[in-house]
Amino acid sequence: MSEQAGIPRPKPGVMDIAMYIPGRSKAAPGVKLHKLSSNETPLGPSDAARAAYSAASARLEDYPDGSSTQLREAIAAAHGLNADNIVCGNGSDEILELLARAYLAPGDEAIHTEHGFLVYPIATLAAGAKPVSVKETGLTADVDAILSAVTPRTRIVFLANPNNPTGTYLPISEVRRLHAGLPSNVLLILDAAYGEYVRRNDYESGIELVSASSNVVMTRTFSKIHGLAALRIGWCYAPSHVIDVLNRVRGPFNVSSAAIAAGAAAIRDKEHVENSIRHNEHWLSWTTAELGKLGLEVTPSVGNFILIHFPDLDGQRASDADEYLVQRGFVLRAVKGYGLPNSLRMTIGSEEANRGVVAALSQFLGKA
Ligand SMILES: *Cc1c(COP(=O)(O)O)cnc(C)c1O
Repeated sequence: MSEQAGIPRPKPGVMDIAMYIPGRSKAAPGVKLHKLSSNETPLGPSDAARAAYSAASARLEDYPDGSSTQLREAIAAAHGLNADNIVCGNGSDEILELLARAYLAPGDEAIHTEHGFLVYPIATLAAGAKPVSVKETGLTADVDAILSAVTPRTRIVFLANPNNPTGTYLPISEVRRLHAGLPSNVLLILDAAYGEYVRRNDYESGIELVSASSNVVMTRTFSKIHGLAALRIGWCYAPSHVIDVLNRVRGPFNVSSAAIAAGAAAIRDKEHVENSIRHNEHWLSWTTAELGKLGLEVTPSVGNFILIHFPDLDGQRASDADEYLVQRGFVLRAVKGYGLPNSLRMTIGSEEANRGVVAALSQFLGKA
C-alpha cells in the first residue's frame, strides 16, 4: 500500500474537463425575461404532451417501462423506423455519454470539430479518452480535415449536423463522403438535434446512412422542436449491435414515465411540429436579414438559432452587447467557450422577442 494514499482521485482526464456552463436564464430585475440562450422553442410543447405529462402523475409509485416501448414505437411510427433500432435516453446528452463510455478506452481518440457541441469533448474526457479538435472552414465542418485527423487510435467521430452554435450544416453528400473515408471500426455519430428545422434539399439527418451501414448512429432530441427540454428526452437510431451495447451500459430505468408519455404524445402531434417549423422559418430569415441591415454579420443558419458577430471596437463587442441586452430582458448565449469570443448565439424566439432584440441592437449600435 502506498505511504501517501491521499484523497480519492478521479481517473485521468476527469479533472481536464472544463465544466459545461449552460446559457443564462436570468435578466435584469424588473424587466420581462426573453430567454434566448438555450435554443428552446418559443411555442412550448404540444398540448397533448402537457396532458400526458399530467396524467402520468397518477402512477408515480411505479417504475417506468425500462425499455421506453411506447416512446420508441411512437418515434418509429413518426420516422418510418424499426423500434428495435431505437434507444431512448435522459436527453440525447445521455446517449452521447453512453456511446463515449462504451466505445472509448484510455488512449483512444474521439474527433469533434473546432466549434462543435461542447458535450463531445466532455463525454470523451469523462470516458478517459482524448478529444481531438479539428479545424473548421468558414465555421463549417471540413470533411477533409476530419479525415486527415483520423489515426489508428480514433474510435469515434462526433458531428453535429446542423452544428450548434454555428448553425451551419453539411449536405448529405459530404456526410456520405466522410463516412466513406472512415475505417469501418470508427463510429460516426451524427447529432441531428436540429434536424427538423432544416429546410434544404441537400440535407438529410442520416437515417438512410444508419440503415445502410454498421458504424453510423444518429441522435435526436425532444428538447428543441418538441419543446420538452425540462423532461430530458433523447434517442438514437443505430445498428442492432450498437443498440445491444447501449442497452447493456444504460441505467435500467433511464427515462421517466412522464417523459415516455409526454414524448410519445409530442411526436404524434405533427401539426404542432409543423407550426414550429413554420414559425422558425419565418423568423429565422426575418431576424437574419434585419440584423444584417444593422451591419452585423450573421452566420447563415439552418437551425432555430443564429450566431451574431460583433465589431472588434471598444463598446461594441459581444460582451458589451450581451450586457446591454440583458438589461433589457434579452438573454442570449455567450459562446466564448466554443472559441467564439466576439459572437453571441441567439435562439429564434417569439415575434416580440425577435423584434425586441433587433430594436435593442439597433440602439446599441447607435442606429436608432
Ligand atoms: C441541444 C442539443 C442537444 C440536445 O441535448 P438534450 O440532452 O437532448 O437536451 C444535442 N446536441 C446538440 C448539438 C444540441 O445543441
